[in-house]
Amino acid sequence: MRGAFTDVQLTFLGTASAQPSTTRNHSSLALRLGSDVWLFDCGEATQHRLQHSTVKMGKIEKIFITHTHGDHIFGLIPLLAGLLNGAGGAADGAEDPRDYVPIDLDKPAVEIYGPLGTRAYVRTGLKYTHSLLGSPYVVHELRLPWESPTGDHTEMPPHRVESPSGRNIQQVDGVWPNIYQDARVSVSAAPILHSVPCVGYVVLEADVPGKIDPKKYIPELKRTKTPLTIMSHLQQGGSIELSDGTILHGPPRRPGRKVVVLGDTYDPSAIVPLALNADVVIHEATNAHLPGVDPATKDDETYESVEARTKSRGHSTPQMAGIFAKRVGARRLILNHFSARYAGNDDVDAEARTVMQAIGALAAKEYGGDVVCARDFMSVNVALPAP
Ligand SMILES: [Zn+2]
Ligand SMILES: [Zn+2]
Repeated sequence: MRGAFTDVQLTFLGTASAQPSTTRNHSSLALRLGSDVWLFDCGEATQHRLQHSTVKMGKIEKIFITHTHGDHIFGLIPLLAGLLNGAGGAADGAEDPRDYVPIDLDKPAVEIYGPLGTRAYVRTGLKYTHSLLGSPYVVHELRLPWESPTGDHTEMPPHRVESPSGRNIQQVDGVWPNIYQDARVSVSAAPILHSVPCVGYVVLEADVPGKIDPKKYIPELKRTKTPLTIMSHLQQGGSIELSDGTILHGPPRRPGRKVVVLGDTYDPSAIVPLALNADVVIHEATNAHLPGVDPATKDDETYESVEARTKSRGHSTPQMAGIFAKRVGARRLILNHFSARYAGNDDVDAEARTVMQAIGALAAKEYGGDVVCARDFMSVNVALPAP
């Protein structure tokens, strides 16, 4: 029977918005579920970020793209080339350069999820860079109601390692429920408002074993000479009948962890029903109004003017992120996707720390809980809530 993941951990590989800097790279976030790695967004140079992190690139099984803006997808083609034993260009003197990359179609395909256009982007990027991949990938697209349920946004035939099993997933009641599901975890998604189609993802661990109190069971097991190994069955929530007819029930299973990863947004309301009681929400906070803290603040700026400008570009302020986290009852809020104005070295730079603390405080005031401002290479454990 299934158990909880030993570890659920987030590692921020890139926390910049439009402009990367020496301290913040373009968007990417790794979610480690035990030894599996799922990636959310893949901005430029994500492969390099992975090489400098403790996340094992070869363990990446799934890649979820929130939207096809370059700062979230420019790193996908090189990552695939690295991940799928790829090679660029033709080998010298080769008649058919494809002979130089043996293809292993039996390997499980790396699964990519994203909005309409993701499949065409990958196909085109691989084709025109003459990229040769050694194992398969597949792209599942999350289609909006007004988008065609068929077709790929391109007439180009699939790359020879693109699996034909890519789905075009239609909405049900305004969301994309269970786009992925196995015995231990499921993923649902919802459209969130940005300047282009954008998807927020909700990763939900299946119910996990409840807390077992051995004192409740062991005397009964001993009394009836039942092997104590049966405890592992009870621990999983199972029931047993003892030799004298007594029935013992294990503790009820309890909800697993819920991780909500939003992309760029000025209004993620559509994801609220899926995101309720999240253990952690990752929400962008591109721009902030920080008079007296950020020396670049202009005299005529007000919070209202900053919020209006931020929304007009499809983004959020820390306060907007805090309001969302409160609305869904999140246990924890992590901010990312910061303007290049907000340096990502607040662990060593006092000035940057003051600014990031002020940004966190603006969100916390609305949210009422603790807020973490992500910096690159930061890892955060997502613990199961206390039973
Ligand atoms: Zn962005
Ligand atoms: Zn964007």
